[in-house]
Formats: sequence, C-alpha cells, structure tokens
Amino acid sequence: MTFDAATKMQFLYQLRSKGVTDTRVLTAMEQVDRADYVKGTFADRAYEDMPLPIACGQTISQPSVVGLMTQALQVSPRDKVLEIGTGSGYQAAILSKLARRVYTVDRYRRLVHAARATFEAKDITNITTFTADGSHGFTEQAPFDRILVTAAAEDPPGPLLAQLRVGGIMVLPVGQSDAVQSLIRVTRLETGYDYDELRSVRFVPLLEGLGQE
Ligand code: SAH
Repeated sequence: MTFDAATKMQFLYQLRSKGVTDTRVLTAMEQVDRADYVKGTFADRAYEDMPLPIACGQTISQPSVVGLMTQALQVSPRDKVLEIGTGSGYQAAILSKLARRVYTVDRYRRLVHAARATFEAKDITNITTFTADGSHGFTEQAPFDRILVTAAAEDPPGPLLAQLRVGGIMVLPVGQSDAVQSLIRVTRLETGYDYDELRSVRFVPLLEGLGQE
C-alpha cells in the first residue's frame, strides 16, 4: 500500500496539531512509512491517527501518542535505547532514526520475527530484536540512556528502573489495563528517581512470560 504526498502531509499536520512539535521527532516520523508496519485488512488506514490491530491480538499505537512518547523521551544521537513491546516495530523504527542503537523486545516470537523482517527490508541496521518477557529488561546491555515501555504496568517494573543510567529517562504508561492509564516520565537522579505525569493514555497490558505464538 502506498500513499500520496498530500496524505503524508496531512498526517504530519495532524501530529503537529496534537502537540508533536519537536522537529527531530517529526522528521523521523516522516522518514518511517507507517504502511510498512500495518499489514492486511487495515493497511489502507495506516495514515489515520488511530491505533490499529496487528497480529497476536495486539495493536500498533496511535501515531500522535507515538510522537508524544518519543518527544518526551528526549532521545539524542548517542543514546542506547531499550523498548519494551516491539509490536509492529513502528515505534522502534522511529527510535532508530534518533538513537545510536535500539534494543526492542516482545513476548510474542511471531511479532518479533515480522518486525525484524521489516527492518531488514528497510535497511535499518541499528535495531536488535529479541523475544522475552521485557519486564526483566536486558541486563547484558544495561544501563540504558533511554527506556520506552509501550504496554501498561501497574507500577514501573523494578528491573527497568535499575537498568536506567543516572541521568537517563524512561517513559511508560502505568495503571490498570482495563482503565485509563497515565503516561509518566521517570528521570534517574544521582540519589533517586523523579516522576512526572504527562497525560492519560490507553495501552494493552504488560503481561508476564512469553506469548503462545
Ligand atoms: N510499540 C508497538 C506497539 C506495542 S503494543 C508498535 O510500535 O507497534 C504492546 C506490545 O507489548 C505487544 O506487542 C505485546 O505483546 C507487548 N508486551 C506486553 N507485555 C510484554 C512483556 N512483558 N514483555 C515484552 N513485550 C510485552
């Protein structure tokens, strides 16, 4: 599925009007074609600002929420970023344009394989994908400059807090899975953590263990 320049311009306009104003984030979102990450029945809706179903009963997030989360993460070109919840791979692809390296994990092997194939097809070489329960983080590569969680936990998982570098930032939705959640930003200080509430959001839950597919 391909979309014309007018549709893409409208998409960027919508992002801006919903508060995504960081030029680097907008440029990254212009570079990543969302249509590469939405397959099947909903492919023709890739440029609408709404979450859409993907395999394994999961969703690709709403683009304006992706933009606002990416903006809140304040990624710089030397950063090593960990993303929990690969899903379609769309968010990871955007992060890959802003960071030095991205590690992304999902509990569904099937989603990880599909995302990896898309990254290869698009010549994106600075993303490492793996299948695991991401709430444990990734000790082998810790600490991380930035951590982004794209599934909701009741509280920030302890291992992720521990794997954040001092001065590092984590953005994540917290709250019950069936209710409105809060998007929060956690900054690691020398002496503890600083918490900042950004807005309300709705994400699929952060679940334990591996998925069946
Ligand atoms: N960032 C994705 C959207 C994610 S949807 C995108 O850009 O498309 C949330 C994802 O989190 C789902 O794919 C779900 O399988 C995954 N997930 C939920 N709990 C998880 C866990 N404990 N570890 C890793 N992934 C998890």
